[in-house]
Amino acid sequence: MFKNTFNSTLPNQEGYFGEYGGAFIPPQLEVIMKEITAAYLEAREDESFLDELMSLYQHYVGRPSPIFHAKNLSKKYGADIYLKREDLNHTGAHKINHTLGEALLAKRMGKKKLIAETGAGQHGVALATAAALVGLECDIYMGEVDIAKEHPNVVRMEILGAKVIPVSHGRKTLKEAVDTAFGAYLEDPVTQFFAIGSVVGPHPFPMMVRDFQSIVGNEAIVQFADMKDGALPENIVACVGGGSNAIGIFTAFLEKEDVTLYGVEPSGRDINTIGEHAATMTKGEPGIIHGFKSYMLKDENGEPAPVYSVASGLDYPGVGPQHSYLKDAHRVIYEHISDVEAIDAFFELSRLEGIIPAIESAHAVSFALKLAKEKPGSSILINLSGRGDKDIDFVAEHYGKKYKVNF
Ligand SMILES: *Cc1c(COP(=O)(O)O)cnc(C)c1O
Repeated sequence: MFKNTFNSTLPNQEGYFGEYGGAFIPPQLEVIMKEITAAYLEAREDESFLDELMSLYQHYVGRPSPIFHAKNLSKKYGADIYLKREDLNHTGAHKINHTLGEALLAKRMGKKKLIAETGAGQHGVALATAAALVGLECDIYMGEVDIAKEHPNVVRMEILGAKVIPVSHGRKTLKEAVDTAFGAYLEDPVTQFFAIGSVVGPHPFPMMVRDFQSIVGNEAIVQFADMKDGALPENIVACVGGGSNAIGIFTAFLEKEDVTLYGVEPSGRDINTIGEHAATMTKGEPGIIHGFKSYMLKDENGEPAPVYSVASGLDYPGVGPQHSYLKDAHRVIYEHISDVEAIDAFFELSRLEGIIPAIESAHAVSFALKLAKEKPGSSILINLSGRGDKDIDFVAEHYGKKYKVNF
């Protein structure tokens, strides 16, 4: 079994990664966030907490997730391509790694209910799963437009025993759901625990979610060495929405200077038009969003801009503060991939390796295939953050013709 190690020097005590991060929150939440921070720092030193989490990772999630050598892709594109198979986790993506951690912490703190917002429903399903397992109530706030669009995930959450609360004001999508969930949290931050879905939000969430996800890289560094005579991968590629799967695989390699790290954002339909992409690192600037400082995409009033990507898990106008730090430090290179390129890679992986990726993960695959041509013969490890079952109907409807999907 793999051990997890949480010994990073960042963030500092106030939750800063260099100039990014922190906690920009209403006064009534300051005490609560300090309590969560203290409880978490204590929990991560407690063998029984760590043993319980590791045991769930192994017997419930199915960890360690394998690394697969994608020989057909490697042959066609000329580099040595490997996949870290987070798509094989229970519930089909990496998100279960941090929702289990958050649920165990909430339980340990005596909380009764997990709450969160969800857009496409992926975070909602992962959280409802953890809540069912750990024995907590679960309220998921979701815009009415998203409820109509993401019917299977809404049903899944209800089957798992969570309550899906429709949000019916404004554009009735993720932004309104965030606002409503936050309002509900302010009303009762004592018995409820707001489980953030990525390495974003106020301190301690970027640190805590990173730590829970770092199991991905901690496994990968050992697995890769076993497969390749002790070698490290020369390149690692992961998609970046809020940034949790990327930081999860990067963390174990941050001090290995020979490993080049790539984060891949969505350039959507058009990277030069605000509202048509979510390439925060390429087009954003530092600002404060949802309680923390980071790169963000701003509208003309300096507020979070509207964003778009074919991958609903990637369309966030901010990014985790540690990513902003790693960008400025030139430790991670941030690139972008368009809708069209991602869908191409979605079919390429499906048809060459028999693995249907989440459209989010297909962004990482697409960039890796470009990189393979630039760096022939080098090794590339892709974090395959999730499986594409959730995406098949959408892809068939919108892109089926081009790829000869006839039903
Ligand atoms: C939610 C999601 C993402 C984006 O979230 P990060 O926090 O950036 O990892 C990526 N891939 C899949 C499969 C997702 O469900």
